[in-house]
Amino acid sequence: MAEKLSTHPGQRFECRDCPARCCRLPASVVIDRDDVARFRAEPWVRERLPEQGLAILERGVLPMREVERGLRCAFLDDDLLCGLQKRFGEAYLPRACQAFPFGFTRNEKDVTVAQLSQLCPSIRDNYGEPLDGQLRGKLAKKGATERMSTAMATLRGVILPRAQYLRVAEGWDETLASDAPPLPALALIYDATRAFEDALPFGSEKVPDAAVAAALAQAAAREPEPLGTRRAPSFHARVVFAYLLGNLCYPSRVRLAQRMRSAPATRFEALRSFGNKLAWMLGRGTVDLLYVPRPVKLGRVRRVARFLAEDGAEARRVAGYLRLVLARRQIFSRPRHLMAVVLDLSLAAAVISRFARCRAAADERSAVSAEDVGEAIGVAELVLLSHRSLTEDGRLMKNLRWLLLTKPERFRGVLEGEA
Ligand code: SF4
Repeated sequence: MAEKLSTHPGQRFECRDCPARCCRLPASVVIDRDDVARFRAEPWVRERLPEQGLAILERGVLPMREVERGLRCAFLDDDLLCGLQKRFGEAYLPRACQAFPFGFTRNEKDVTVAQLSQLCPSIRDNYGEPLDGQLRGKLAKKGATERMSTAMATLRGVILPRAQYLRVAEGWDETLASDAPPLPALALIYDATRAFEDALPFGSEKVPDAAVAAALAQAAAREPEPLGTRRAPSFHARVVFAYLLGNLCYPSRVRLAQRMRSAPATRFEALRSFGNKLAWMLGRGTVDLLYVPRPVKLGRVRRVARFLAEDGAEARRVAGYLRLVLARRQIFSRPRHLMAVVLDLSLAAAVISRFARCRAAADERSAVSAEDVGEAIGVAELVLLSHRSLTEDGRLMKNLRWLLLTKPERFRGVLEGEA
């Protein structure tokens, strides 16, 4: 029987002259052993790559070079077309390249759901042809489908099988679909999920469905605590921005392990990267942030209106995006704490808000535009929800995540700085 496929209704796609954004991402493009063997055996590839590039390839990652303050795939030509594709055809490319911007996750109903990266301008702007005729071809190119985790854990160690954790996630979706704007909605979701976890029978590893229903009802009955506001980002929000957005600033964004270098890394570059993080921590200084055409004076960001704690077109767009993230199910692909999923959605909202406001500040505008928010959603995909996995987090970010999961006032502080 043919595999059932689904995608976001009305979504379109056609690769266009964007130009080659997917070949210039500051992220690892992982390739399989067959690709490595094929490339290694090809004289043209060996000529094209220096020793260092071949060594990076051996690690199962596409090597990149630094051009115009950014990284680009070592096979991307100066005309921004893929040298491998021009020479050998599309079928020769690694699967990740052939399938981009598509990924696939098998959902709880055994339907394969397309996961489309919002970093791709065609997906972001809904440009091109309807997807129905393209899905099977892209699935064949991708070759693999992610699966949802069979269980998630509460912070107290109860293991919730898929049907139970999805019942909780249904409530998140309803809250995001309600009148509450994204940041107050996420605060509600965080509090309600914690209250649900606390209401489950203590000490058991598994609980019956009736106990889940009772704990959900108990969590829903409590009085919600309104989200406050802060004049400036909290200390923890600054660490989040320094780590996630600071790494998208130049030169931090080119200091990746897959970069080929003509000269050894300099201490000066490391110092400037540290300077980027310091600027984000202090909220002062000027940074060169990816996808922002002008330098960003971080001190100006506070003059840009916040937009995710009140109703408005951009707030609704972000709520819609967070619902899409839940619907495409990739966020449930790893077994982990259920609250960690809530945290991912919340950090994504904070990052979207801060990035969009930075982009407006760089243009000396006092309000974000639809374009700022579109780019910001792509950035959330890049640093949190689609292209980067938790396994790439350093110890600092892992500790910070744990703190935000277990200390509600610290978590609220992150949202309040953008509310
Ligand atoms: S980012 Fe999208 S539109 Fe741009 S080259 Fe890649 S697939 Fe095509």
